[in-house]
Amino acid sequence: MKSFMTSPAPSASRPARPLLSVTNPMSSQYDTILYLVRQTTGAEVVTIQIDGMPPQPVPPDLQCLQAPLVHQGHRFGVLRACAREFPSGAGHLLAGFAVLVAEQHALWSVAQLDMLTGAMTRRAFMSELGNAVSTWARSGAPCSLIAFDLDHFKSINDTYGHGAGDTVLRTVANMVRSELRPCDRLGRLGGEEFAVLVITDPEGALDIAERLRAVIEATVLREHPEIAFTSSFGVASCGEAGETRDSLLTVADTRLYEAKSLGRNRVVGAPGLVGESSLS
Ligand code: GH3
Ligand code: MG
Ligand code: MG
Repeated sequence: MKSFMTSPAPSASRPARPLLSVTNPMSSQYDTILYLVRQTTGAEVVTIQIDGMPPQPVPPDLQCLQAPLVHQGHRFGVLRACAREFPSGAGHLLAGFAVLVAEQHALWSVAQLDMLTGAMTRRAFMSELGNAVSTWARSGAPCSLIAFDLDHFKSINDTYGHGAGDTVLRTVANMVRSELRPCDRLGRLGGEEFAVLVITDPEGALDIAERLRAVIEATVLREHPEIAFTSSFGVASCGEAGETRDSLLTVADTRLYEAKSLGRNRVVGAPGLVGESSLS
C-alpha cells in the first residue's frame, strides 16, 4: 500500500525535527555560559542534558536545580546546576541561562543542516561518522553507514521541473527521518545522494536499508502523484568494510554503484549478506 506524504518545507511544518536531529554539539561552545552559571549561582557542577543523549551523572551529595531548554515551544533538554546550597534567585538565573543555551544550540544546529532537506550537511555528517568510527575502535560498539542515491533523478527534473525535484528530495529526507531512531543520523552528501549512520551491525543495517528502500518506493507525493521514484543503497560496516570513516564511505559508495548496475532500487551490503530487494 502506498503511503501519502505532503512535502512541506522542513522549517514550516516540522519546526523541531531538524533541530532535534542534531544533538551532539561540541561541548566547548557552551564553556562561557557554564562558567557564568557557576560564578553566579555558586554551583559546583553544571551540565547540559540533551534529550535522547546518554544521561549525565548527577552528584549524589549535591542538590540540583534544572531549567528546561526550549526551542520553538519544544523542550529538547535541561540545563542542570548542582550545589550544596543555592543563594535565593538561583532558579531564575538558571532559567535565564537556559534561554541562552537554547539560542546557542539552535544557531549551532541550523549551521549543521542542509537548507533544502533538513539533513545534516556533508561536513557535519562526516564529523559524526568519524566520532562513531572512533567509538567502534575504542569500545567495539557497532557502526554502519548506509549510502543511498535517488535513481534517474535527472529525468525527474527534466520531466517535471526542478521544483518538483526539490519536493522529492525534501520528501525523501522527511520519510527517511521518520523511520530512524533519535540516535541515527541522516546526512545529505551532495545533490541527490544521502547517507544514514546507524549504531548497528551489518545485518541490522541491511534490514534498515531495505526498509528505507521500500518506504521510498511506496511514497506518493500529494502534489505530484504521477512522479514515481526509487533509490539504490550501499551498506558498509566498521570492521568488515574498513577502519576509517573514509574507507567506510568508499565501500558504501562502491556497493551503492553496484546496486545501480544491478538494476537500481535495491540494496547491496557486505559480501554474503543479501538484501531482500536483491533476491528478486
Ligand atoms: P542515477 O540513477 O545513475 O543516479 O541517475 P541520476 O539521474 O539520478 O544521476 P545524475 O548524476 O545523472 O543526475 C543527478 C541530478 O540531480 C542532476 C542534478 O541536476 C540533480 N540535482 C542535484 N542537486 C539537486 C537539487 O538540489 N535539486 C534538484 N531539483 N535537483 C538536483
Ligand atoms: Mg541519482
Ligand atoms: Mg548521484
